[in-house]
Amino acid sequence: MDTDFEVVIAGGGIAGLTAALTSARLGRKTLVLTGDVLGGLLLSIEKIDGFPGFPEGVPGYDLCPMIQEQATAAGAEFAVAALDGITRRDDRWQLKTAAGEVRARAVILATGSTLKELGIPGEARLRGKGISHCASCDAPLVRNRTVAVIGGGDSALQEALTLAGFAERVIILHRGKALSAQAAYRDRVVEHRKIEIRFDIVVEEVLGADKVTGVRIRDATGGADLEVAALFVYIGLAPTTAFLSGQLTLDPFGKIPVDGRMRTELPGVLAAGIVRSEAAGRAAASAGDGTTAAVAADRYLANGDWPFGKTGG
Ligand SMILES: Cc1cc2nc3c(=O)[nH]c(=O)nc-3n(C[C@H](O)[C@H](O)[C@H](O)COP(=O)(O)OP(=O)(O)OC[C@H]3O[C@@H](n4cnc5c(N)ncnc54)[C@H](O)[C@@H]3O)c2cc1C
Repeated sequence: MDTDFEVVIAGGGIAGLTAALTSARLGRKTLVLTGDVLGGLLLSIEKIDGFPGFPEGVPGYDLCPMIQEQATAAGAEFAVAALDGITRRDDRWQLKTAAGEVRARAVILATGSTLKELGIPGEARLRGKGISHCASCDAPLVRNRTVAVIGGGDSALQEALTLAGFAERVIILHRGKALSAQAAYRDRVVEHRKIEIRFDIVVEEVLGADKVTGVRIRDATGGADLEVAALFVYIGLAPTTAFLSGQLTLDPFGKIPVDGRMRTELPGVLAAGIVRSEAAGRAAASAGDGTTAAVAADRYLANGDWPFGKTGG
């Protein structure tokens, strides 16, 4: 593998893939470090809703490889490796990866987020044994069983609807008093005969010796055990920025602040997708960020303009 690139993109989700496509089409020598999961969060989504051009939705495992193919055809290169850190040397960024060091004049950070865990007893022991973050992967395994979904946002409701196609009963356990998901999901969930919603519920423990058999819950009236065959957890996302370890100022949520062109405080370093501050959290928005960042990187390489003073390193 070459080690010198004009643009290196960290992240193989829709933001990184779209940045790669745009950057390569602009004629820039471009490498994508995909991390572990090419396709990112979308890879396991059975039906991406609201993505332009696909009125019936599109599976993430179809859409992401299509964008990768398009980016490869435009000349982008790919490496299955994670970015471990960046250091400024002369006018280049030195990038540490498990596959060795690469150098780049511009870097686009599109490392996305991971689904948060509950942090309660039983979770670590039963991870992968009935606790899941992927309804479309595991729904066939819970055919005709009762399952619980934890959360009240878009992801929780969308995945509850997927599960309801297989499970006998889906119980949504939500900590708050109202669902925060968009109306399109709320209406369908409320009307669905297989889905029940319980509000003001704290899940205290996952039960089961070697597979999930239930959860211990608490509400205003006290505690109780609820029998379920599996637990699907969608309680929010944590940005993947720990690898930057102080090299970049992060916002209070751990996300990367950018300006309208996706430029960070470090010259030649941009961020795109749900890892950046105030991202919209939808696939189309991440794709748009990727395009904006690649265009800004191209302009920076052409004229060296950067609005902030820090040099990093
Ligand atoms: C259950 C669920 C359902 C959803 N449904 C929809 C929907 O229907 N419609 C919609 O518009 N949106 C939906 N979303 C939101 C959508 O998935 C995200 O907005 C979008 O995938 C974010 O893309 P991204 O590229 O910014 O980040 P991610 O998808 O998180 O991609 C990040 C990428 O970075 C890589 N990475 C991580 N660390 C490193 C590193 N150190 N170095 C290199 N690479 C790294 C990862 O491997 C991954 O490839 C859903 C989300 C969830 C959780």
